[in-house]
Amino acid sequence: MTLNDARALDAADPLARCRDRFTIPDGVIYLDGNSLGVLPNAVPAALADTATRQWGERLIRSWNEGWIDAPARIGAKIAPLVGAGADDVIVSDTTSANLYKLLVAALRADPARRTIVSETGNFPTDLHIAEGAVASVPGARLKAVARGDLAAAIDGDTAVVLLTHVHYKTADRFDMAAWTARAHDAGALMLWDLSHSVGAVPIDLSGSAADMAVGCTYKYLNGGPGAPAFLYVAPHLQDRLASPLSGWMGHAAPFAFEDAYRPASGMKRWLAGTPPILAMAALEAAVDLWAGVDQQQVAAKSAALFDMLAAAGDSIGLECVSSHDSASRGSHISFRHPDAYALTQALIARGVIGDFRDPDVLRLGLTPLYLRHEDVWQAGEHLRAVIASEEWRDPRFAERLAVT
Ligand SMILES: *Cc1c(COP(=O)(O)O)cnc(C)c1O
Repeated sequence: MTLNDARALDAADPLARCRDRFTIPDGVIYLDGNSLGVLPNAVPAALADTATRQWGERLIRSWNEGWIDAPARIGAKIAPLVGAGADDVIVSDTTSANLYKLLVAALRADPARRTIVSETGNFPTDLHIAEGAVASVPGARLKAVARGDLAAAIDGDTAVVLLTHVHYKTADRFDMAAWTARAHDAGALMLWDLSHSVGAVPIDLSGSAADMAVGCTYKYLNGGPGAPAFLYVAPHLQDRLASPLSGWMGHAAPFAFEDAYRPASGMKRWLAGTPPILAMAALEAAVDLWAGVDQQQVAAKSAALFDMLAAAGDSIGLECVSSHDSASRGSHISFRHPDAYALTQALIARGVIGDFRDPDVLRLGLTPLYLRHEDVWQAGEHLRAVIASEEWRDPRFAERLAVT
């Protein structure tokens, strides 16, 4: 493919108009939107209004002028992106905290089942939180096995299967409906972590009969650094599962100030404390940009961008660890290289921002809303040049930073 071919694809791209809604620094090809999405143009004004008018002028009255409903209102806007009903998603806490709430709730729902099944190599917080969850429930244990052993590990003792839909390192994607059915066949609940898939690939929680899900909003949803996360519980389970973080915002009547905890019905029971309104304001402005975006167009463009970088990597003998079948992967591409860290840094020095995942993976995120085919074509050229020139060997690229 030539640069002109890439430009022709941009000219015909139905998502091209979306790029103008985001702030993309000059001289940067941003391939890390799967880790921290770019700034939507609408966010600074939303934050300023929330601070100066809603907080500064309206003060406590703002709780009744939209703040108190923000978790459910923003959840309803995320719902179509994950194939959920508007009332079945709520925004709350972090993905880590939401995993804890749902895992403990699942373990407590059926005392005859004591095991959480998950995958070794899952995103670390998922396994760490699962360890914490089993430590909180007498008799519970965590069985983390390699992907190839998962099916056999799910049995009559499994309370809940916790899987990450799209793997953060390889981009491998589970077949949501098939694995949910596998969990259900064994009588277990299925909990999906959508952190690397929401906004990246089409998701159908209801159609897959998934029981529970969590996900990040600061990656493909562009909600801002540390933006609040979301969680989903299937309607038939909403009154059967209860949060172990039984805080007052999840109470049936928070302002009745009762001593005893009574969980709210529906998704509100998953709230623990007071929602972070400044962060919610940024998130809501970001999520609003997804209204009317066709997920199939996102998927098709993601596949086209992937193919361009895969071809560039292939031409220089880089080992691609992501699946070449677009239905079996998310929206990033990962290459294995013994000096992947230095390679990542050398690309960043050229303005091509991707990231490194220990021990040997260069990861490049493909975000169809704001990347042009031309950007990805250029990134491929930079990748070729960095490898050909061996400029990654410069010692300054070997120095490890705290966040990789
Ligand atoms: C990014 C990510 C997280 C992050 O969790 P936080 O609580 O927001 O730090 C969790 N799980 C997966 C699969 C992720 O990709």
